[in-house]
Amino acid sequence: MIAFEVLARDGAARRGRLVTAHGIVETPVFMPVGTAGTVKAMTSEGVAATGSRMILGNTYHLMLRPGAERIAALGGLHRFMNWPHTILTDSGGYQVMSLAARRTIAEPGVTFRSHLDGSLHQLTPERAIAIQQLLGTDITMALDECTPYPASYKAVEKSMELTMRWAERSRDAFVERPGHGVFGIVQGGVHCDLRLRSAAKLVEIGFDGYAIGGLAIGEGQATTFAVLNATVPAIPDDQPRYLMGVGKPADLVGAVLRGIDMFDCVLPTRSGRTAQAFTRLGPVNLRNARHADDPAPLDPECPCPACVGYSRAYLHHLCRSGEILGSMLLTAHNLRYYADLMAAMRAAIEQSALADFAAGFEGAI
Ligand SMILES: [Zn+2]
Repeated sequence: MIAFEVLARDGAARRGRLVTAHGIVETPVFMPVGTAGTVKAMTSEGVAATGSRMILGNTYHLMLRPGAERIAALGGLHRFMNWPHTILTDSGGYQVMSLAARRTIAEPGVTFRSHLDGSLHQLTPERAIAIQQLLGTDITMALDECTPYPASYKAVEKSMELTMRWAERSRDAFVERPGHGVFGIVQGGVHCDLRLRSAAKLVEIGFDGYAIGGLAIGEGQATTFAVLNATVPAIPDDQPRYLMGVGKPADLVGAVLRGIDMFDCVLPTRSGRTAQAFTRLGPVNLRNARHADDPAPLDPECPCPACVGYSRAYLHHLCRSGEILGSMLLTAHNLRYYADLMAAMRAAIEQSALADFAAGFEGAI
């Protein structure tokens, strides 16, 4: 069991607090993605310095390399990567679909070949839960099939129903421990009737929180929000809601407005490695020649290491030279921007001012 408390409300938005075995997480929260036991280009101390208290780890990557049993023998993922705060792991389902070779999906689970060495693996709901327990993750995700988009209604329905049967098996396999919880994943594509059936089934099974998966994969922001409008009211009001794999700043603001509490996305870290910075005044491409002679910081009000110590000209030089430090500084900045954005939304909810705040983000409302 994990504890979740709603501290304040503003329309459908909630300002909450999640308590796990590894500490307190203020919500709405953004989780940096730590794919292979590392948030790319960041030390764990650096991630914590951005304000983050919760990260996401990837079951698929860690089970293949270095292996869940090895991480367990070394004291679990928290100790392995020196991250003392909360960790949520995905179930591996999404990466199996997007990365693995020659995968076969059947009732027992998914059989696939590793994208690293071609070795054969099977991921069942029971194995996905066991791996996450070996990692010592605070929040475990049930195994799901991420339905491709676009797909026919029948195909989406069949996939969602398989995910619901896997959810039941995942819940049964989860071993209760204080401060640890398991989330189910609502699927159903862009079809609101399927989403509602999926949510009702998961609530019947009973989870510690509910994720909404299979969105932001090409359907467009308006459709994403329409699915949220239909789905969120079907999820218990006193439990955390997690929108998986989303997204851009305006997507986060729009989803918080609609009652989402938790997010993860590779966007701030991946962008940091491709010279893209998020700022209060919009995105900045540091490769652009206009920064070459600019002694000003990226954002004079940002307290991150990139903005406190370095000029746009220097960041531009690092990015143009392909220097590792460019990726490190911009990733630190982008994670700080995302952490600050979430903190600003929490403050706005407390002041019943989220709608005004959201007006500054195109498309969010
Ligand atoms: Zn900064």
